[in-house]
Amino acid sequence: HAFKPDATVHSVCGYCATGCSLKVHLKSGHAVNLSTHTDYPVNLGMACPKGWEALTPLAASDRATIPLLRGRNDELEPVSWGDAMDAFCGRFKSIQEEHGQASVAFLSTGQIVTEEMAFLGSLAKFGMGVVHGDGNTRQCMATAATAYKQSFGYDAPPYTYQDFEESDVLIFVGANPCIAHPIMWQRVMRNQREPEVIVVDPRKTETAMAATQHLAIQPKSDLALFYGLAAHLVQMDAVDQDFINAHTEGYQAFVDFLKDYSLETATAATGLDYAQVSQLARLIASGKRVSFWWTMGVNQSYEGTRLAQSLINLALMTGNIGKPGTGANSITGQCNAMGSRLFSNTTGLLGGRNFESEQDRNAVADILSIPVAKIPDQPSLAYNEIIDAIEAGTIKGLWLIATNTAHSWINQKRFRRVREKLDFLVVQDMSYSTESAEIADLVLPAAGWGEKEGVFINSERRIGLTRKVSQAPGEALSDFNIFRLIAHHWGCAELFEEWTSPEAVFRILTRLSQGMPCDITGIQGYADLERAGGIQWPYQRPEGGARLQTQRRLFEDGKFYRPNGRAKFYFEAPRAMPEPVNEAYPFILLTGRGTSSQWHTQTRTGKSDVLKKLYPKNPYVEINPVDAQALQIRPNSKVCIRSRRGEVEATAVILASVQVGQVFMPMHYRITNQLTASVFDPYSKQPSYKACAVTIHNI
Ligand code: SF4
Repeated sequence: HAFKPDATVHSVCGYCATGCSLKVHLKSGHAVNLSTHTDYPVNLGMACPKGWEALTPLAASDRATIPLLRGRNDELEPVSWGDAMDAFCGRFKSIQEEHGQASVAFLSTGQIVTEEMAFLGSLAKFGMGVVHGDGNTRQCMATAATAYKQSFGYDAPPYTYQDFEESDVLIFVGANPCIAHPIMWQRVMRNQREPEVIVVDPRKTETAMAATQHLAIQPKSDLALFYGLAAHLVQMDAVDQDFINAHTEGYQAFVDFLKDYSLETATAATGLDYAQVSQLARLIASGKRVSFWWTMGVNQSYEGTRLAQSLINLALMTGNIGKPGTGANSITGQCNAMGSRLFSNTTGLLGGRNFESEQDRNAVADILSIPVAKIPDQPSLAYNEIIDAIEAGTIKGLWLIATNTAHSWINQKRFRRVREKLDFLVVQDMSYSTESAEIADLVLPAAGWGEKEGVFINSERRIGLTRKVSQAPGEALSDFNIFRLIAHHWGCAELFEEWTSPEAVFRILTRLSQGMPCDITGIQGYADLERAGGIQWPYQRPEGGARLQTQRRLFEDGKFYRPNGRAKFYFEAPRAMPEPVNEAYPFILLTGRGTSSQWHTQTRTGKSDVLKKLYPKNPYVEINPVDAQALQIRPNSKVCIRSRRGEVEATAVILASVQVGQVFMPMHYRITNQLTASVFDPYSKQPSYKACAVTIHNI
């Protein structure tokens, strides 16, 4: 009976943006095990391996349990929280005094709860006078956010997960939900409408194998494909003219632009058969419920914003939006990327507002009862621009919170070189052994998922509650309490007197949402979220005590968030690949998620013996059998992969998952981003991780 639970709480999982709810079973207030939550409208009783193992990393041996400060002999040495705060405030303040307010920046995350994100962004920008801060969501969701803002007038993924089950044609582009969002894929499997499932991806992924059709396009030919399809729909008069007339703008200009495109141009660009492309056009034109879904294959591209908008355009011109089973639907990556997109106060002001807008600054100052002069009137530099500014010597102090830049940032060796230009690097994380913590000047030990409470916002805009079910080890503090401590030591605590607990901040966030598209003023506290099984934004309280709603789709009334209420068509001619293959670098390197059992840089999932058994420990590269034969590479032999940025070793996996001339490496290993190139989408500034030129040979 020692471990027999005496209580159970519901808590949203802290890995991916599916936002599954888990039942955590407690003994004397401490988690002993977990099971899944059958009534939650997201996961309906399911969880993937990471969710089942969610408690394991909390007991990892490399947990940061005490602040560490780099000492005279260049080693990280334990110090008290008081000394850590003296170092944090003393060093950052002296950098700001010498080099200006904007010389200290922060890089945040989609992994901490929304209340912490809001506190971090507000503390840094309103309290510490920091001007530049961005998040690791720049690496995953910036493209979707930019595309939605331009096309719809607000960063608003329109769908609900029910749409997976209510669609007749599901088109997944650069997405592998079988392993990246396994529970969303289970929702597709529950679809009783015998749907067509189309996967557009250069690689034969797990999802491509399970689909009814796989369109194995050449890398980065997707924009030409979707413009060709759009042109064909126009030519066939297979568009929803009533919807276009009533709810969009810029259609005629789009039609004019499409004159250079056709199914033939799409076929030539993609390497697909004409029959495959015309079959896809027929499916989109069929009048059935068509939904478009994308993740990193679209977002992590040098032309990602226009690519996402080419899918948005297809949905708009066929009227496939605002109805069951439809939509132009970006699937988010991290558990709280959606929270970050609205409330992190990094590149956008709290609530999806703009720092440049005087009206927005006044509104936020009023709601928070702070002087408006405390709010910067210029937008933040984006992640890549912060790295550039460090290299240029204008940013001298950097604070990383729950992100592992030294592993995950594109062209990794460059970040390592750039780091040397920093006078002070602070890493706040639950582990002292991340690649970023190892090179920090100060490590602040943070509580992890399960050791604190707050809300995550998932891909379908559902706000779900995550609970404290375990005590953080040693002297580790929740990020929330670290921010309170910093506010006190920095001398700006008077700005945050009301920010006493995560739930108090949640109530502030509901006020900040008032009148915005994400208005959640109807949620009165955590108890509402618990009772309803999460609540999707927007949410105003139903009249007369009506039942709290469980599913909410956007744009059902055809009204978009742009000032004239219409969605706008955006388009631009495809650009050449920044790094095409040549004689010296004849292969295209594709990168991505390799398994459902590991998460990003493995700082948590790498601590679970169960999850480790489900995934190869050592880096591997997938090579097509034809290429392997030509290069005399044998299965499981060691090969060298080299790009213009560096070279790494990996085990050869000979597999026709990749096409001839392409190789694939998962992102979970620390070496992969030594190869990737510093290339970015010009609008979203998102890194283009997916396609760079490499050469490969036996070792
Ligand atoms: Fe957690 Fe995502 Fe797995 Fe659900 S699918 S259990 S949210 S990692």
